[in-house]
Amino acid sequence: MAKLITPSLWADWKPFGLGEKKPHHFWEIFKTVWQNKRHPLYAWRILSRGCCDGCSLGTMGMKDWTMSGIHLCTIRLNLLKLNTMAAMPWQRLENDLAGLKQLSSAQLRELGRLPYPMVRRRGDAGFRRVSWDEALDLIANKIRVTNPQRIAFYLTSRGLTNEVYYVAQKVARFLGTNHVDNAARVCHSPSSVGLKQTVGVGASSVSYKDWIGTDLLVLVGSDIANNQPVTTKYLYYAKKAGTKIVVINPYKEPGLTRYWVPSVPESAVMGTRLMDDFFQVSTGGDIAFLNGTLKYLIEQGWFNQEFIEKHTVGWEELKAELASQDWEMLERFSGLTRDDMRRFAELIHNARTGILVWSMGITQHTFGVQNVKAVVNIAISQGWLGKEHCGVVPIRGHSGVQGGAEVGAVPDALPGGAAVNNPDNVERFSKLWGFDVPEAPGMRAVSMIDAAYDGDVDVFYCSGGNFLEVLPEPDYVREALEKIPLRVHQDIYVTTQMLVDPAETVVLLPAQTRYEQPGGGTETNTERRIIFTPHIPGPQVGEARCEWEIFQEVAARVYPDKRDKITFPNAQAIRNEIAQVMPLYAGIETLRKKGDQVQYGGRYLYKDGQFKTPDGKAHFFALKPPEVVLPAGQFILSTRRGKQFNSLIYSKKDTMSGAPRDSLLISAEDAAALHVREGERVRVKSDNGQSMECRIHIDKIKPRNVQAFWPECNVLIRRRVCDVAAGVPDYNAIVEIEPLRAAVGAGAGAAAAD
Ligand code: SF4
Repeated sequence: MAKLITPSLWADWKPFGLGEKKPHHFWEIFKTVWQNKRHPLYAWRILSRGCCDGCSLGTMGMKDWTMSGIHLCTIRLNLLKLNTMAAMPWQRLENDLAGLKQLSSAQLRELGRLPYPMVRRRGDAGFRRVSWDEALDLIANKIRVTNPQRIAFYLTSRGLTNEVYYVAQKVARFLGTNHVDNAARVCHSPSSVGLKQTVGVGASSVSYKDWIGTDLLVLVGSDIANNQPVTTKYLYYAKKAGTKIVVINPYKEPGLTRYWVPSVPESAVMGTRLMDDFFQVSTGGDIAFLNGTLKYLIEQGWFNQEFIEKHTVGWEELKAELASQDWEMLERFSGLTRDDMRRFAELIHNARTGILVWSMGITQHTFGVQNVKAVVNIAISQGWLGKEHCGVVPIRGHSGVQGGAEVGAVPDALPGGAAVNNPDNVERFSKLWGFDVPEAPGMRAVSMIDAAYDGDVDVFYCSGGNFLEVLPEPDYVREALEKIPLRVHQDIYVTTQMLVDPAETVVLLPAQTRYEQPGGGTETNTERRIIFTPHIPGPQVGEARCEWEIFQEVAARVYPDKRDKITFPNAQAIRNEIAQVMPLYAGIETLRKKGDQVQYGGRYLYKDGQFKTPDGKAHFFALKPPEVVLPAGQFILSTRRGKQFNSLIYSKKDTMSGAPRDSLLISAEDAAALHVREGERVRVKSDNGQSMECRIHIDKIKPRNVQAFWPECNVLIRRRVCDVAAGVPDYNAIVEIEPLRAAVGAGAGAAAAD
């Protein structure tokens, strides 16, 4: 049994991390109570009965399936207000559009929920409130006369349920297009592609509870303390169980170094030292580092020969490729030394069990899929699959994205991952659904904006999302949106993209939250657990409607004679059909109340040694590391998140690093070379020709690497540069940094860094 207190794990001997930069959890709780004071009982019912609409860990009320204690974090508390706030003064959309356009996204959200359908035509000074009938007929009439190849659907991850994703993708196909995509495209699509090609299932192979007690937990390009905060509680229990935690990242994330878990008294008071070892890789250097590590493992004979012989293919090719890669190149590309690679290899060799977790530091590159394969190569070489405390985990940031893709809200796959480019799949679904499923491949989310810019989209139907904020080069995105004849924005509050001027018509449709949807809904979390979240009755906001009902009603009005093919009487009927058409989700039809869940594949996948690839084997990939070429005086910039959820920003300061949101994180060495001090203003110029002003924040980041906060720094990111296999934008840029006042001398910069 774990000891009640373990002083050797304490972050410090000072109680409550006095003087440290850290989140103030108890203040956040107070703020949330205040913000939800209008409907405190409803807020409490959501917290205690609902499945969290935040990140991808998943809850039943404030409990989970990993540990016995409370499961709650400030992301969920901050999102709570969106679920309880009242209607906005909608008249402002009619008579104060110019005023609304001056507001930031956060200020627009503060106004409250979107309560009524609204329409704005080209040349109108504002929106006009309309009936649901008028709005739906307007949309249906336009879709009916539009070439389906010029219609596109996009779905956010804002708490949408599997039921909404399923109906939306079915509607898209009913209307004749595969142009349907979801928010995973801008974060984890390389994980799905990479995992399918290596081990067969585009999901975590293992459960969160396996983190606790695994010998080695490796976090690659992932800041889970910030983005999935309750994982720090899992890490606390893992440390108590003897797990070693290793981090591979260009920046030494403070929240991964030590953390104060508020609901664990020992940790809340004394903090917990999380990270045991750290490898400061250069941005884009992961493949070189992992290849070097694997090269060393091979040289030492530290791999699982029996597992490799029985269950894998591609080992010999991989070995030959690594033998041809010299250490000097691997060191230069990774930014780490051969000794670092040896040290990581020893950690792996000394662990009987291990789990590799990654996130967007790995995926958001032109070589995101290759990065994922490099991580998986390590796991397969050790036989770290198919048994407890071993696995690979692409940890998702949002509650909807795993299920959204799996139930078919993607352009290249039908429900259950059935490839669209396979005529057998198209025929099977055409029979199941009773209408012809289109065969032409669909556009990915980023391509939809590019197509709009090129004048190739006539109807763009968005459930949530804000492309103006999430995609590179906002001015380009705005121009693209302004060219689309009909834009439909279905959401719970007003966003800046809704206010972009119409080419012909913009329709706003007020949506219900996941908790308001009759019949409840389900989400699928990162560990493949399909979780039921019940209908939690609360105050009705204006005429907001359930999202799956809206989608099917639009489709039924386009083709009234085929209404019976596309309308579901209730949410249970949707779950019944999901279970019927995608056996992967068998059991979803039995979920009816809080706490009901089913984990497809069980606690861990591949336990029989059979992988879900066509030949049943796990596939090694021989990978050539990419080189990030940095001309003298230039830096590689990557994007980071602060106190935010997706593009919803909750604080002007990153509570983990203490950096204000206009910061440029830079190493002391680089700051000294540039003669800039902490807080000094600089101009950051990107190779896309754009620039922005930032303030210097000197921190523990790899020299020649800098970070700025996303989405503000999207202006610096090049458009139309994506991973070819997965379509995720490359959220990195080569930049120059120009001090905005006279240089102060080399010594001053160095002094500031001490
Ligand atoms: S860690 Fe994620 S799932 Fe858990 S409460 Fe926070 S946002 Fe919700």
